[in-house]
Amino acid sequence: DNNYKSWIAPLCFDGIEDGVARFVAPTTFHGSFVQKEFADRILSQLQRHGAEAQRVAFTAGQPRRAAPRPSAPAPAAPAPAEAAAPAVADESGLSTALDARFTFDRFVVGKPNEMAHAAAKRVAEGGPSGFNPLFLYGGVGLGKTHLMHAIAHELKARDPEVKIVITSAEQFMYRFITALRDKRMMDFKLLYRSVDVLMVDDVQFLAGKDSTQEEFFHTFNALIEGGKQIIISADRAPGAMKDVEQRITSRLASGLVVDLYPTDYELRVGILQSKADLYRQQYPGLTIAPGVLEFLAHRISSNVRVLEGALTRLFAFASLVGREITMEMTQDCLSDILRSSDSKISIEVIQRKVSDHFNIRLSDLVGPKRLRSIARPRQIAMYLAKSMTSRSLPEIGRRFGGRDHTTVLHGVRKIEELKQTDAQIADDLELLRRALEE
Ligand code: ADP
Ligand code: MG
Repeated sequence: DNNYKSWIAPLCFDGIEDGVARFVAPTTFHGSFVQKEFADRILSQLQRHGAEAQRVAFTAGQPRRAAPRPSAPAPAAPAPAEAAAPAVADESGLSTALDARFTFDRFVVGKPNEMAHAAAKRVAEGGPSGFNPLFLYGGVGLGKTHLMHAIAHELKARDPEVKIVITSAEQFMYRFITALRDKRMMDFKLLYRSVDVLMVDDVQFLAGKDSTQEEFFHTFNALIEGGKQIIISADRAPGAMKDVEQRITSRLASGLVVDLYPTDYELRVGILQSKADLYRQQYPGLTIAPGVLEFLAHRISSNVRVLEGALTRLFAFASLVGREITMEMTQDCLSDILRSSDSKISIEVIQRKVSDHFNIRLSDLVGPKRLRSIARPRQIAMYLAKSMTSRSLPEIGRRFGGRDHTTVLHGVRKIEELKQTDAQIADDLELLRRALEE
């Protein structure tokens, strides 16, 4: 993430000519660093996506097709990586560096995440929260990891002595396996059981990893019994986790389970405004034309990471050329991002993907049949249309063979309900969502 933000996001694509893919970097040093460290990966990605490139080249300056070189002062260097924050529980060897940016101050609250935020705030007060475990779930880039770190920051600020471990489920497994191999299971158990707060990120990773699950279950129980706080995140609800033992999923659901919903337009505007404020401090003098942030919030999908990347690149570019961020510059500099999230996710595309996925006819999907094998995919398509496009319920109804908006609402609610309890549906949704966002 950091490498991406510091090195890749500030690049501007400047076209492919004679097999050379050209990028403009903020500085010569930046360009040669990227050439050395990432050129191979960039090239293989380009080729994977069908680009006719044999080589990548970086120049410092501005894209050739942009306006004539401005007589602006030399641009500021790209955002320096922020100083690493102190690690949590570093004395134990379980260190996970706390991300200094992931604080409550910088978390923008809106309808889709207000419950998760409120619950996180409550847990961050310390003491028995009653929400134990706190289980946060939602799609990629919606702020789960951010909230976990924010809780840790606040708990640390209240009590510097509190022992917090933040780990991903993957790290947990890795350490478990290493401990087994090195015959240090005693240490492993002591370590995890001696914490005051344990946060395990992305527990869906434990699916199918039976012995790690078993160990996790024991750790979990020991901590809960000892009155310690546990916070878990996952990409889906406990009941929808596949290949995770039921005794575990039911323990995971025994505290408070909260959903982070995909961002809506208002939340995206709020997040962009807050990030833009930070950038304005970093690049004093840079201005943004009215309407640019709203345009981005409208055009870029629900994943906050993509929004952030867009803004980072835009500010790096604007500081490079020393001009106001205008609508024109935005469209130029972000053309690739805008194209990929360009109304590509339309109701038609959703319908096509869903009918392919379930192997049913498009005409049946929007037709009158009420067979379960068709009605369920139809509801899934309606749900995706509601959550991934900005179309209204009546509009979606019209596009599904002239159905009433209450029928759409019913379908959407049904899927919202099923995705919490039905692993197959949660899987289908995740696959479809990824395919659509690609
Ligand atoms: P997840 O763990 O759910 O995949 P992250 O917590 O890593 O997502 O968030 C992705 C990025 O988006 C991070 O840089 C985070 O700071 C940012 N982000 C997500 N939600 C918000 C929000 N509500 N306000 C501010 N930034 C957010
Ligand atoms: Mg995460």
